[in-house]
Amino acid sequence: MSRPRVLIVGAGFAGYRTARVLSRLVRGRADITLLNPTDHFLYLPLLPQVAVGILEPRRVAVPLRGTLPHVRLVLGEARPDGIDPDARTVRYTGPEGDSGTLVYDRLVLAVGSVNKLLPVPGVAEHAHGFRGLPEALYLRDHVTRQIELGAVSEDPRGRTARRTFVVVGAGYTGTEVAAQGKLFTDALVRGRTLGDGAPPRWLLLDTAPRVLPELDERLSRTADRVLRRRGVDVRTETSVEEATSDGVRLTDGEFVETRTLVWCAGVRPDPLVEGIGQPLERGRLLVDPYLRVPGRPDVFACGDAAAVPDLEKPGHYTPMTAQHAWRQGRIAARNVAASLGIGERRAYRHRELGFTVDLGGVEAVADPLGVHLPGPVAAAVTRGYHLAALPANRVRVAADWLLDAVLPRQAVQLGLVRSGSVPLDTASPESARVVGGPGAAVAPAAVSAEPGA
Ligand SMILES: Cc1cc2nc3c(=O)[nH]c(=O)nc-3n(C[C@H](O)[C@H](O)[C@H](O)COP(=O)(O)OP(=O)(O)OC[C@H]3O[C@@H](n4cnc5c(N)ncnc54)[C@H](O)[C@@H]3O)c2cc1C
Repeated sequence: MSRPRVLIVGAGFAGYRTARVLSRLVRGRADITLLNPTDHFLYLPLLPQVAVGILEPRRVAVPLRGTLPHVRLVLGEARPDGIDPDARTVRYTGPEGDSGTLVYDRLVLAVGSVNKLLPVPGVAEHAHGFRGLPEALYLRDHVTRQIELGAVSEDPRGRTARRTFVVVGAGYTGTEVAAQGKLFTDALVRGRTLGDGAPPRWLLLDTAPRVLPELDERLSRTADRVLRRRGVDVRTETSVEEATSDGVRLTDGEFVETRTLVWCAGVRPDPLVEGIGQPLERGRLLVDPYLRVPGRPDVFACGDAAAVPDLEKPGHYTPMTAQHAWRQGRIAARNVAASLGIGERRAYRHRELGFTVDLGGVEAVADPLGVHLPGPVAAAVTRGYHLAALPANRVRVAADWLLDAVLPRQAVQLGLVRSGSVPLDTASPESARVVGGPGAAVAPAAVSAEPGA
């Protein structure tokens, strides 16, 4: 008899963990295939550290082949109209435009989320997102370039604009980008003669009344204090009304001249899950506590793309965090195995273990198990947590941290990623996540382009 085929779509926190745990549970009694656009699992929480040059990009890319030896990897993206639950097939497009069809007996959808585009004039054209390695590498190059160009510019306004960086969204991503970005640019200008001598300026905007609005208020207060002490201009209850190639108009009426607008405000579930015609909850695929899609006993979903009932908070769904996605992956693996007659199924139930936000230097905020830790202790706990959570590359990550602590940060532009490769609309098919080579398209007009350079 042939072995059952399990297809996992998406190798992020949820899909990677499903593949890893499932391969241990079934021990060769099922064929596991993982469909993902890249050959690695991207450890997103450390991405801000790539953008500011602390970590080399490969450190946050966990190799799939090396760490999932019993899983077959297919490079590609499931097509939006490609999932046929009746025929039990998934059609996909490969990295070079080729296509294929995968047949399954059990399907796990773990495609995560994409940037949420808000209808703010100019933002889609002039802002860039922060969701992947190309974005982080682009930002690192772009910021370095702005500092270089600003240093030699004859025009005082242009000089100030190049040294002004605007981050929208004070969730954990935006807060880390602004906090660590400020330290990065301060290090870049240290020891230079800088025209009018004004230090780089970072603005962090959010419509919420406090930074880190989704976390405990004590974490917010500490993060706010660290940001302001560092010189970040924190503007709560403020956002962008319009973006142009010269800068951004804020909702309070002020026009800020800048060449850099980083959009970290809001994500939404990957629209792929809309294509299978099952009930959704705010764009997430509704599942039962066993992570099964109702009425489709052979289809499971987990992570950001799934609306998983929060058994600790009846009537709610688990939030879109790495912590939940990672733990749901384990339960999805158990329940897929149980559906194949291996082991017992289990409902997803998980208490928050707390949050960690790395603000760079020796500052972080963390509340492991509800214990509020500020400052260097939080920084040590945060880094320890990431080292423990990373499935690979731990020694390399620790080595980068050590080098960063004792050596000046390397500030060179690699020029590998063009602004056209880091669109804000990560959900559209045109926004293929490519790293531009010499012939790569350049965005027609982006705040991040260099007018008058
Ligand atoms: C910059 C950044 C920093 C973050 N920091 C934190 C943090 O500090 N703490 C925290 O709790 N959360 C953090 N998050 C959120 C957290 O990363 C997500 O909640 C988590 O990644 C969700 O896991 P997932 O497996 O559902 O999706 P993902 O990890 O996003 O993985 C989805 C995978 O599916 C793939 N995929 C997408 N579409 C398709 C398709 N059509 N076919 C095949 N594969 C597809 C993607 O390429 C990706 O590999 C951060 C997010 C970002 C962007």
